[in-house]
Amino acid sequence: MAGVFKVLCQVSHKQGRRVAHQPWINHMTRRSLASFKASDLQIQLSTELKQKPDPNNLVFGKEFTDHMLVVDWTKDGGWTAPTIVPFGNLSIHPASSSLHYAIELFEGMKAYRGVDGTIRLFRPYANMDRMSISAARCALPAFDKDELLKCMSELIRVDRDWVPHSTTSSLYVRPTMIGTEPSLGVSPPTQAKLFVIIGPVGPYFSTGTFNPVRLYADTEHVRAWKGGVGYAKLGSNYGPTIMPQVNAINNKGCQQILWLYEDEHYVTEVGTMNIMMYWKNEQGEDELVTPTLDGTILPGVTRKSLLELARKWGEFKVSERPFTMKDLVKGVKENRIYEIFGAGTACVVCPVSSILYKDEDLEIPTMKNGAKLATRFYNELNDIQYGRVQNDWMYNVD
Ligand SMILES: *Cc1c(COP(=O)(O)O)cnc(C)c1O
Repeated sequence: MAGVFKVLCQVSHKQGRRVAHQPWINHMTRRSLASFKASDLQIQLSTELKQKPDPNNLVFGKEFTDHMLVVDWTKDGGWTAPTIVPFGNLSIHPASSSLHYAIELFEGMKAYRGVDGTIRLFRPYANMDRMSISAARCALPAFDKDELLKCMSELIRVDRDWVPHSTTSSLYVRPTMIGTEPSLGVSPPTQAKLFVIIGPVGPYFSTGTFNPVRLYADTEHVRAWKGGVGYAKLGSNYGPTIMPQVNAINNKGCQQILWLYEDEHYVTEVGTMNIMMYWKNEQGEDELVTPTLDGTILPGVTRKSLLELARKWGEFKVSERPFTMKDLVKGVKENRIYEIFGAGTACVVCPVSSILYKDEDLEIPTMKNGAKLATRFYNELNDIQYGRVQNDWMYNVD
């Protein structure tokens, strides 16, 4: 024991500082775990195939395909063989811990039918990594990310006709894991269910052009906090945001919330998207800035992709650092803000046109400035996602 302690001390001494545990920064390797295997997949095809919806009238998250992937886990027996079964209701015990204590996680990603007809997922390993981090945080079982990805790919192949033949629509993929522990004790689940449901989704901006949003900078409610679980996609982070969101819509005339933190009103996220600000900073440099992954911010795959693109271009400063409403207001008053937009899988980028903060309307000139950076990001990702440009971010499902 003393020897181990000594070794640890030497390591941290060598590094010069102690590094806190940062689960939101993924250090994991893709080692094999006691997991289900795609080679054990059992497929039960549906005998009643549903009518596919008109791709022009898709409402997000309302349409699902004919099949779903389901895998069960117990502490004693481990994972069952993965199954693809007809889409339908789940049957779970009413004491299931997911229903009482929100022992639950989810992911969100998309598959695209490329212009060459090939179906591809966008950066699925990033979602698998994040899902593993979420699972660990809410005491749900670990699984092998490669095996889950192979099973999901098979599900998409089974329902391949549901992937829209369109370069404005895609197939949304929703992996989920829930605690099914049939007991009211607040304890680690000894039973869990992993399932993946998929469904076609239409363009986020149905008009074909950007639909900028007005934000309510909420000074009352907080989405996530230091030491909390803001970095994980746990259901428990989202339920409590509905009431403030309804307030922003009904009482403030805004579409989304700008989530702030601490008395300094640090800018953190917008709705369920990461936030990006492109401006001339106090030093007079053009800069794209987004908050640091400090544990309160969800590490978005879109956020990461936009940062990587911007760094590759190397045309302006790219920063991950905290900034406050005071910085933002000063930027607005001094006409230094070019664009503010949200970033997430659903829309890629979502331009912001104004922010209501402490009863003051801040006009954000994103659209007046032609949303040039937002558009460039959107087009670049779109070309990659629909296979117009070859990029190893894409994972072939076929
Ligand atoms: C899912 C999510 C995002 C965006 O993540 P992507 O991986 O880019 O879709 C950002 N913020 C929150 C709070 C989220 O839940």
